[in-house]
Amino acid sequence: MPIRVQLDESRDVCEEVIDKLVKIGLQRYGLSPKYGGVQIGSAVEYVAVCEELARGDSGLATEMTCPEWLFGPAMRARNKAVLEKLMVPFCSDQRHTACFALTEPAGGCNGEDPTQHGMTMRTTARLDGNEWVINGSKRWPGGAGIADVYGILCTTDPSLGVDGVALIYVPNGLPGLTFGKPENKMGMRFSDVNADVYLDSVRVPKEYRLAGPGEDWKLFRAALSWGRLSSAGFAIGNAQAVLEIVIDYTANRFYKGKAVREHTLQAAMIADMAIGIESARAYYLSVASMFDRGNEFGDPGDHYLMGKASGAKVYACDVAEMVCNRAMELMGAYGYSKEYHVEKYLRDFKIIQLWEGGGQLGRLEAAMGYYPIT
Ligand SMILES: Cc1cc2nc3c(=O)[nH]c(=O)nc-3n(C[C@H](O)[C@H](O)[C@H](O)COP(=O)(O)OP(=O)(O)OC[C@H]3O[C@@H](n4cnc5c(N)ncnc54)[C@H](O)[C@@H]3O)c2cc1C
Repeated sequence: MPIRVQLDESRDVCEEVIDKLVKIGLQRYGLSPKYGGVQIGSAVEYVAVCEELARGDSGLATEMTCPEWLFGPAMRARNKAVLEKLMVPFCSDQRHTACFALTEPAGGCNGEDPTQHGMTMRTTARLDGNEWVINGSKRWPGGAGIADVYGILCTTDPSLGVDGVALIYVPNGLPGLTFGKPENKMGMRFSDVNADVYLDSVRVPKEYRLAGPGEDWKLFRAALSWGRLSSAGFAIGNAQAVLEIVIDYTANRFYKGKAVREHTLQAAMIADMAIGIESARAYYLSVASMFDRGNEFGDPGDHYLMGKASGAKVYACDVAEMVCNRAMELMGAYGYSKEYHVEKYLRDFKIIQLWEGGGQLGRLEAAMGYYPIT
């Protein structure tokens, strides 16, 4: 926490902290114990960990949880080749970076939107003997250029719809795999490294495809649903940090002889921030507990739980936005200054609201939890 703003100034600082997080086992968190990973106790526990990490820095939270996000589908599919050859190094005490590349230059929401059935995906994979040959490009994924393993969402044939969708694991260093320059962003400037990924006839073994026609899509949707649920935790981690800063600051700033936070007007604003945070947290935890009871609520990738996870993310992000804006009003110029860190959280939380479908696709999926939309 004391160096949270320096994380925004250099990758070296981020790597120092990441190395320590790796040492305490976070890189292994969520990976199968059979391969040296650390079992997640429950979805409730997992999202609480996401919130707490993001209370410090969302980029670090992203990097630390990306191995589980990337290899989660392979663990569910029991893809031995991917787990044994590509996941095992992530179960060590050495820093490894994962990258899950869904977004394409033509749009991030296209691949995620279930009503497009994977038909608008432009990155393709063609089977040639015992190898997939991948062509296309991805935009924005976290870890691009520095990651050791890439999950590439692509299609074997767009006309096949969801049966054509393939998730293929690609180790770094293969001929034809190149990257653009790191993007210059508003927040998470060094703790989440984003760049273009170019694939020019990249060849990987056949068994690095996740599971097969239809199955890859289902497992991808489940991973997306987990991603949205954890994003709700990330957003509330940011909001919680801001609330703590505001409560401290307004105790020591006075007008008319009384601390700012003791005036009724400001106390009501702080109360609304706290109520928003606690209700958004209760919402995402209740969805997480549904993830933990698959027999009752189904698969996280099905419309019902996808709707709930998307709704929890949309709501948590709206709350984080309200909390950051109110914090600035309560703190005046000091909220806007780098010294008090509120501006960092405002910049960081914003992309959580935008990624993985943004508020619009998130709302659409929340509605689809109740009725079909084509
Ligand atoms: C810091 C950062 C980290 C990122 N990390 C990753 C990552 O790890 N992996 C990855 O693959 N990508 C990542 N992204 C990309 C991010 O997920 C996309 O930017 C996001 O999904 C939105 O896609 P887009 O920017 O292409 O917007 P578009 O898809 O072009 O959307 C533009 C607008 O149209 C709306 N819209 C578009 N299509 C639909 C639809 N079908 N239904 C409803 N509304 C729609 C959107 O909500 C938005 O309002 C990251 C981006 C950043 C900046």
